[in-house]
Amino acid sequence: MAEPTIFKRIIDREIPAKIVYEDDLCLAFEDIHPAAPTHLIVIPKKEIASLDDLTEADEGGVGHVLVAIAKIAAALQLDGGYRVVTNCGKAAGQEVMHLHFHLLAGRPFGWPPG
Ligand code: 5GP
Repeated sequence: MAEPTIFKRIIDREIPAKIVYEDDLCLAFEDIHPAAPTHLIVIPKKEIASLDDLTEADEGGVGHVLVAIAKIAAALQLDGGYRVVTNCGKAAGQEVMHLHFHLLAGRPFGWPPG
């Protein structure tokens, strides 16, 4: 059996996290090393390693996560705008192999990203 990822351990409450939103299908918590004044990690509870591992069966679940992100942004009044990022694979900087979306806000963001 593979070791559970750090995010699976957060879902299972084996390690602490500052959880800001939860429902049946997803969880959002503060990033431990924030890259912006607001930096949340939003994840499906289903264990999916990355975008590469999605199948058509995940369309509803991932859509649910994106709708949850919009709800969180509205609740936090991120009216000035926000950025949503998912890193897929090593070259993109993915460190945790549990699909996740970074929700970043509170400072200007350059484009293209580094
Ligand atoms: P990735 O590089 O995989 O796209 O992003 C992983 C993110 O998870 C990083 O921004 C990192 O700071 C965050 N992270 C890693 N370990 C933990 C942890 O134990 N708790 C929390 N809250 N965030 C973590």
